[in-house]
Amino acid sequence: TTKFKDGLSKTSTAFTEKIETLVLRRKKIDEDFYEELEEILIGADVGVNVVMELIDELRTEVRKRKIEDAVDLQPVLSEKLVELLSGKEDNSLNIQESGLTVILFVGVNGVGKTTTIGKMAHRFNSEGKKVLLAAGDTFRAGAIEQLEVWGDRVGVDVVKQQAGSDPAAVIYDALQAAKKREADILLCDTAGRLQNKTNLMEELNKIYRVIKREVPNAPHEVLLVLDATTGQNALSQAKLFGEKTGVTGLVLTKLDGTAKGGIVVAIRNEMDIPMKFVGLGEQMDDLQEFDSEQFVHALFA
Ligand code: GDP
Repeated sequence: TTKFKDGLSKTSTAFTEKIETLVLRRKKIDEDFYEELEEILIGADVGVNVVMELIDELRTEVRKRKIEDAVDLQPVLSEKLVELLSGKEDNSLNIQESGLTVILFVGVNGVGKTTTIGKMAHRFNSEGKKVLLAAGDTFRAGAIEQLEVWGDRVGVDVVKQQAGSDPAAVIYDALQAAKKREADILLCDTAGRLQNKTNLMEELNKIYRVIKREVPNAPHEVLLVLDATTGQNALSQAKLFGEKTGVTGLVLTKLDGTAKGGIVVAIRNEMDIPMKFVGLGEQMDDLQEFDSEQFVHALFA
């Protein structure tokens, strides 16, 4: 879609232009060509391991298909990228047919958690679902107000307590409110301070237990929000949270703000958790289901 293309324009400009220049300059596929291609891919934050694998596969294909001209390599490259990205394709959300669906959002401060919740609230609200938000980040100054701004914008209610209160208690309140009002979707914000990780993980576990006790089989999704502009940091956060908090899906934000969108490839390759959504801007509509083919096509658009 054009949205994907627009959102990925920084990455695709950097990536595609560099590859095209390389192809025009080098003409022939030789060692220097591979070396420069490697640099371009690493520069786009595709990740060293993946790049090595990719280059190896390109070499094999080049030999097999007897490709000599550099121009003929580009389609093979996009083919290989699609292959690398696919296989873990599942951007659907586990939404209950009837009754309440609880979605928990986790991730470090500043990655775009609140914004993503706002966008998601808008999406469900537009589908005619009854949405409720839980202001579970009671730690970061302004987090509750910011969620309320999104609630107003989208037209959904926010369950909150005062700053500093027990997040699990806020979530408990929100679960009661959601049941009483027969809400379809409850989106829960959580704190994301990275200093003293242990406390944060304990806090998330407590929230998790409260949800489990109140709603059978919930939380239905635990979405880890990652910031694409932080490059390899996003990958280390994925590993950190992925191991500890029962994450069921990833949301990669701010892809529009970076030329290093190759991080998508690195994350997809190193994590078994599916990438469900990507953030392509700050507005309500700037949330897209992740699709590997669309992604690669947008890169070479
Ligand atoms: P939180 O601390 O994780 O809740 O992060 P916020 O939701 O407050 O987002 C931090 C900043 O990133 C805000 O200025 C958002 O507008 C911005 N932001 C969030 N998602 C995106 C995105 O997909 N694209 C862009 N360009 N900015 C985003």
